[in-house]
Amino acid sequence: MILPQFEYKRARSVADAVALYKKKQGKALYLAGGTDLIPLVKLRLQAPKAVIDLKGIEDLKIIASRGGSLSVGANVTLFDLKKDPVIAAHFPALVESLDATACETLQMRGTLGGNILQGTRCLEYNQSLEWRKARGFCFKMGGKECNVVKGAKACFANYCSDNAPSLITLGAQVRLTGPGGQRTVKMESLFTGDARAPFAMEGGEVLTHVIIPLKKTKGAYEKLRVRESMDYPLVGAAVSVIDGKARVCVGGVGGAPGLYVIGDIKDAASVRDVAEKASADAKPVANATVLPAYRKKMVGTLIKRAVKRALAEGKR
Ligand SMILES: Cc1cc2nc3c(=O)[nH]c(=O)nc-3n(C[C@H](O)[C@H](O)[C@H](O)COP(=O)(O)OP(=O)(O)OC[C@H]3O[C@@H](n4cnc5c(N)ncnc54)[C@H](O)[C@@H]3O)c2cc1C
Ligand code: SF4
Repeated sequence: MILPQFEYKRARSVADAVALYKKKQGKALYLAGGTDLIPLVKLRLQAPKAVIDLKGIEDLKIIASRGGSLSVGANVTLFDLKKDPVIAAHFPALVESLDATACETLQMRGTLGGNILQGTRCLEYNQSLEWRKARGFCFKMGGKECNVVKGAKACFANYCSDNAPSLITLGAQVRLTGPGGQRTVKMESLFTGDARAPFAMEGGEVLTHVIIPLKKTKGAYEKLRVRESMDYPLVGAAVSVIDGKARVCVGGVGGAPGLYVIGDIKDAASVRDVAEKASADAKPVANATVLPAYRKKMVGTLIKRAVKRALAEGKR
């Protein structure tokens, strides 16, 4: 599929990227590895006048520990992050979710920033323009209703980052710099809950760093997918245990990851209660490759599996 024409600009710094965005009066998109954005442009789901390439910003390729936290630049590739010794020694849930992301070739190109800010997906949406025209535009494309749930005025596209759930269980924050200045927010606050526009970000904001409290954790990540070699999550469940407290986060179903806290991870009833609640909260619809009822059930199952492995220090 051929790309449409757009202007290509290379940013030398974050300030340069924001200035270029302002010059393009909001008609530009940021580009990192391009593994999510370029397919969307090819499918005519995004139509930028200009693309601002962030890849050359060296400051965003650094992993550094500062004041009890680990700061990870948004341009660090998923592969480099997975191989980082500090990540390996502290964050087992993240190591597992990085390893479960796509395949190693894509991990070498895809960045952490792009992974977090990837678009939400639906079998009725990630299609060519001709396919979508024939079907009729849905709510997420500016149409009047959802093509999966008739009459619904909401979108049920799925947020498929494998790594955002793990980072949320680790208490990560994201640093954003844009035309309005700099701010740092908890990763779970980055989501609107509306799958049509999933991120609570101002136009032109660059995600510059992910900040993770640097503590030794126990954890695990479990993923449901059709092909083990490479596939988006149909459900993903991350668990991290920090200072005896367990945080669980579910992704792959709906427009935002869902966070839960387990009172006592060694108490089977507490674990079961959270697994049942998360499963009840999940509202999968028929927009992925397996049945919604199966995905719903697997939410609870994957949480229980992840908890079991977190306690057994990862052993399967
Ligand atoms: C075949 C295939 C399989 C995949 N499987 C998985 C999977 O199993 N699990 C999974 O989690 N993902 C999967 N992905 C999705 C995703 O492409 C990658 O995970 C990757 O990490 C995205 O990073 P990128 O740098 O290529 O992002 P890009 O495509 O460059 O960017 C993605 C989005 O983020 C924005 N953006 C990027 N960086 C910044 C920044 N610093 N600040 C502000 N905005 C930014 C871009 O404008 C764009 O909207 C898959 C993709 C493909 C093509
Ligand atoms: S869930 Fe419905 S509105 Fe959302 S992308 Fe799919 S068909 Fe469109």
